[in-house]
Amino acid sequence: MKCNICSNSEGVHICNVNRTYGKGEELLVIENVPIISCPHSGESYMTAETLQKIEQVKLKCKIFAVARFVDVVSLNEDNAAISL
Ligand SMILES: [Zn+2]
Repeated sequence: MKCNICSNSEGVHICNVNRTYGKGEELLVIENVPIISCPHSGESYMTAETLQKIEQVKLKCKIFAVARFVDVVSLNEDNAAISL
């Protein structure tokens, strides 16, 4: 696989990550988003195809989404209970 940015092909790999969009009640989590990482240019990016899929999912998330109960932690001031 070749990096789209610097054309290097050594060590270029795909990581599947979770991405979140929106917030609060409208929070949408998309799992297994393939991110291409290039150690040469240090870039991490999504392919145009992946970006298109994400746009589709965001438009039609009610069709694709499965409601799940998950634990969500917010690292803001309201969460002073979290101490290091
Ligand atoms: Zn690169």
